[in-house]
Amino acid sequence: MTKLEKEEILDHEISELIIPSQKVAIVQEGNTLEHALLVLIKSGYSAIPVLDRDYKLKGLVSTTLILDSILGLEKIEYDNLSAHKVEEVMDTKVARIMENGIFFKALELSINHPFLCVVNEEGVFTGILTRKSILAIIHRHLKH
Ligand code: AMP
Repeated sequence: MTKLEKEEILDHEISELIIPSQKVAIVQEGNTLEHALLVLIKSGYSAIPVLDRDYKLKGLVSTTLILDSILGLEKIEYDNLSAHKVEEVMDTKVARIMENGIFFKALELSINHPFLCVVNEEGVFTGILTRKSILAIIHRHLKH
């Protein structure tokens, strides 16, 4: 690959790859685990972003985290689904990138994360960037 071709990939705008927040399945930190599990199952995704009332990114919640939190010693405590909130089980370590971030940073983060959350200067969630879309861009460039 020439230097120019490499630069062409790395200069790629991430903005055009972003799935906007309106199209992303999300939950709020104050939602019950029951609600979050329903959203996860209905959306078909295993992990989705958690936001606060102001749409700020707070974490990620997954089916595994929820199910793990209701596992008792000998049985599943289904009642805990309605008694506990998303904020109690969510993972607050979220792979995030600014909406004006650079492609190389997105590529680097996507090695360990199937999707990245995109935020603006105020930490407001504006969408996601999937590993799939990043790989598709690289594939498109390498094909030629
Ligand atoms: P994909 O590349 O489409 O397989 O998506 C990878 C991951 O990104 C999924 O497993 C979800 O965790 C997340 N994701 C993708 N699209 C959405 C969406 N519309 N709403 C919520 N999460 C999504």
